[in-house]
Amino acid sequence: MKRRKKKAVLSGISITETENSLVLFGEADDWTEKLSAGTAAAKLTKKPIVNRIVCRNGEDPGGICMPMNLTPEEFDGVYDAVIVGGGVVGAAVLRELSKWKLKTLLIEKECDLAFHASGRNDGMIHPGFAAKPGSKKAYYNVRGNAMYTQLTKDLKVPFVRQGSMILLAHPLYRLVVPYMLYRAKKNGVPGCRYVSKKELKKIEPNLACRAAGAFLMPTSGQLFPQKLVCALAENAVSNGAEVRLETAAADFRFEGNRIVEVVTNRGVIKTKAVINAAGGWADVVAAKAGDPFFTLHFRKGEDLILDKKAGAFIKKIYAMPRLSQLKSKSKGGGLVPTVEGNVLVGPTAHEVCSRDDYSTHADDIEELGKHIRLNGKLSAGQIITYFAGIRACSYHEDFIVEPSKRIGNLFHLAAVQSPGLASAPALAEEAAKWLIALLSEKEPVRPNENFNPVRNDRRYDFDLMNEEEKDAFLKENPLYGKIVCRCEQVSEGEIRDVLRGSPAPMTLDGIRHRARAMTGRCHGGFCTPRIVKIMTDELNLKVTEVYKKNRLSPLFFGETKGEE
Ligand SMILES: Cc1cc2nc3c(=O)[nH]c(=O)nc-3n(C[C@H](O)[C@H](O)[C@H](O)COP(=O)(O)OP(=O)(O)OC[C@H]3O[C@@H](n4cnc5c(N)ncnc54)[C@H](O)[C@@H]3O)c2cc1C
Repeated sequence: MKRRKKKAVLSGISITETENSLVLFGEADDWTEKLSAGTAAAKLTKKPIVNRIVCRNGEDPGGICMPMNLTPEEFDGVYDAVIVGGGVVGAAVLRELSKWKLKTLLIEKECDLAFHASGRNDGMIHPGFAAKPGSKKAYYNVRGNAMYTQLTKDLKVPFVRQGSMILLAHPLYRLVVPYMLYRAKKNGVPGCRYVSKKELKKIEPNLACRAAGAFLMPTSGQLFPQKLVCALAENAVSNGAEVRLETAAADFRFEGNRIVEVVTNRGVIKTKAVINAAGGWADVVAAKAGDPFFTLHFRKGEDLILDKKAGAFIKKIYAMPRLSQLKSKSKGGGLVPTVEGNVLVGPTAHEVCSRDDYSTHADDIEELGKHIRLNGKLSAGQIITYFAGIRACSYHEDFIVEPSKRIGNLFHLAAVQSPGLASAPALAEEAAKWLIALLSEKEPVRPNENFNPVRNDRRYDFDLMNEEEKDAFLKENPLYGKIVCRCEQVSEGEIRDVLRGSPAPMTLDGIRHRARAMTGRCHGGFCTPRIVKIMTDELNLKVTEVYKKNRLSPLFFGETKGEE
């Protein structure tokens, strides 16, 4: 029956097997049909799928949008590596490489880091249980998870390991626990155990659902992902690496089977190697770089953010999935108490034909109500906002982590869907290992003796200080006592220090990402004018040069009361 179904979705589609891929050609009515053909084809082979099917209704996710008309930049000398993409994966690679004496550059097409998936997720450091045993997702997730304790300490990024639970909806589900334990063991997830109904009530007294017990995964954690990405890049830059924003890899030039130049909208960059960490555009970048061996598809996830008041009513991350979800592509979402005290609800999972359509929908918001109802103290009235993100997936639903088979100096970190955030530090180690081996073929690569793993600014230390230290700090830095964002308690001192960092934010969202200002209940209603003032003052800008998200979202168009 299943075979017949597979045949049906593939009828009329021609399939060619190449050395590295299975390539699909033909026509489909729409994106959904094209997607079904890709998914069916993935069941026939272990090779990556290149889906060249054309949709008759014109649906197509498009290519790379590039910021144009910007001043050209100087790129001196030859880089040892250019990393394409400033999400968590690219930033983690940049930092990993800064442990070595190398000339490295990260280019990001947007005006800030963490602009796409890495700034639009749940910030969960997954334990590695959900990924299929034997998959790359499972391997890098478990490794990455273990690295977060030291990494966040070094980068001064607040992180909490509150643990997560799968609630068992029915007493019979207890029969599945041995399988869950077996799976956890296979993936190498430490500390998992069954929690009885009685113990569960003690852990989560506000549970409103009839859970018969739970499966506890104590290594799960949560952090603010944008802060992490910026911190990774800042630490890399202070250790000698470079970052250029609004710089898009548009093309590549080759000598033999090696890339020698990356052509960007700001100029040409000479390089010895390229690392493709381009997230939702990684298949486009791979194709431009001479290695079109996979196609991505896109799964949108929508999330709700609940007010900080909600955080008091929940201790652990939890969800009550249906049994069938154990095998599904998405983890199904749930309730995620954040390190700052809010609660995230979500994400949903729906296939879309877009790399960056972040619209939110009433249906999804409604769908997420099922998670809110798990906890008797949470309600829709606590929602302060929604957001959406897009997971970039391969047809085999696993990460692509490998050197190119065609291009001698190209490495792919692609199709990094969830748990990509949790896996990023381990993915970075893999790419660094490859690069060091590649460069060492010509000459030895030496460690950077001056590498300092600790982010060497003081602004996030403030929360960690005792009262005495705070008093002393405030005497030296009185602007840290002047609170600008009341919801998140962000001071003028911190915002000014954020603006003096490198890579520095160019927009209000950039400040939001680094300091969390404007993320609270009022969404910047009170503090935005004050932050604009600090920005214009610190960066010597006119108010008309202050943008919300990027150069297409100016906040002001001119003076209303006349200029002298
Ligand atoms: C709703 C949602 C919730 C999630 N929750 C979690 C979670 O809780 N835990 C977890 O582990 N994972 C989670 N994920 C997955 C996680 O967000 C991703 O795996 C991760 O962010 C991928 O990072 P990345 O660096 O590969 O991609 P991205 O963050 O998309 O970064 C790629 C960057 O490359 C840039 N780029 C693309 N093309 C070019 C070019 N030609 N030139 C220059 N730059 C270019 C893009 O602008 C982009 O900024 C979630 C994802 C979603 C959508």
